[in-house]
Amino acid sequence: PVPLNRNLASVKGSATYRIMDKVAERKAQGKPIISLSAGEPDFPTPRHICAAAMMAIQDGHTRYTQVAGLRELRQAVALKFRNENALEVSWQETLISSGGKQVIYNALAATLNDGDEVIIPAPYWVSYPEMVQLCGGKPVTVNCENDTGFKLTSGALEAAITEKTRWIILNSPSNPTGAVYSEAELKALGDVLLRYPQVLILSDDIYEHLIFDNAKFSTLAAVVPALKYRTLTMNGVSKAWAMTGWRIGFCAGPLWLINAMEKLQGQQTSGASSISQHAALAALTGPKDFLATSREAFTTRRDLMIRMVNSAPGLFCTMPQGAFYAFANCSALIGKTSAGGALLNSDEDVATALLNEKGVSVVHGSAFGLALYIRIAYAIDEASLEKACQLIIDFCTEVI
Ligand code: PLP
Repeated sequence: PVPLNRNLASVKGSATYRIMDKVAERKAQGKPIISLSAGEPDFPTPRHICAAAMMAIQDGHTRYTQVAGLRELRQAVALKFRNENALEVSWQETLISSGGKQVIYNALAATLNDGDEVIIPAPYWVSYPEMVQLCGGKPVTVNCENDTGFKLTSGALEAAITEKTRWIILNSPSNPTGAVYSEAELKALGDVLLRYPQVLILSDDIYEHLIFDNAKFSTLAAVVPALKYRTLTMNGVSKAWAMTGWRIGFCAGPLWLINAMEKLQGQQTSGASSISQHAALAALTGPKDFLATSREAFTTRRDLMIRMVNSAPGLFCTMPQGAFYAFANCSALIGKTSAGGALLNSDEDVATALLNEKGVSVVHGSAFGLALYIRIAYAIDEASLEKACQLIIDFCTEVI
């Protein structure tokens, strides 16, 4: 075979997709399985959004759109940023892409040169370091343990910045920990970043609306407006509106960067699906009650899950304030043996044994850059969640 592109060759396949494959395989074999590994809401997309998409098809909106997205959608995105996030942006400073993932990829591909460093607080969403590598950059991960609530501190940030730092990626609420940065915490990071004008900031706000306990969502460019000129604020409809399959993400940022990303997108996808863009427009401009309903359902599930997981011997989990993940420490299980005879030498061993022996899938923490944890997603109905948590408790109780 022909050698692959060297950047691609060094990239790992997505660990979460690999686990999804394992889950599908077990299902195909007719074995029972409850998946706590999915990164998507289990609800159907709200009806009015689906109706808008069907209408778009009937009305013939089935052709290429402008590369950067439909003007009406970009205007709705600019309005969303202004109204919900206090970010003053014009529609020209926005871009629509095929998922939040493509926004991030476009931004990195448009700016990174070989050896440029990107600071990524760990644990991180699995795709950040791999995307950085694909674009020829060098991921610089900074460990953020439970003692700082899995959050980057200003001291740790400053210590990681070098002359080669091109980006820092912030994600709040976080995948995989559910941690939410307060305004004061972002301000502290912003104060450091003000001193390093060569550093661009990517704020991944995709879980913005999944936030609990009256925690307040804040985004860096609004907290420290002096950084707006080098911050890309990314968001999308995937998680908030249960629209993961529609593939629409969006962002706001400085015009030079948006233009570069548009140029790239023009040679790559020609822009996002016209039908999905019409659906996203309905999401941003239509009724908002789904957001509250989904937040309420996730709060109940989170409370149930945290209570049960913390009663499992060997697991410990702090209360996440956002997203739909909990990051449970499993270090007390390491070195032990499961009831099925598996040696648990790592968090990956724990996840694998839990899947093989109890039919519950979770993702090992090391996939997110922090070992000795497992990520448990609670994006499933309450009855299944309760059953899965009981199976986790059984698994842990039987470990010797
Ligand atoms: N950012 C984070 C932190 C995510 O968890 C995900 C999806 O899992 C994305 C971005 C990508 O979202 P999208 O499905 O819109 O590409």
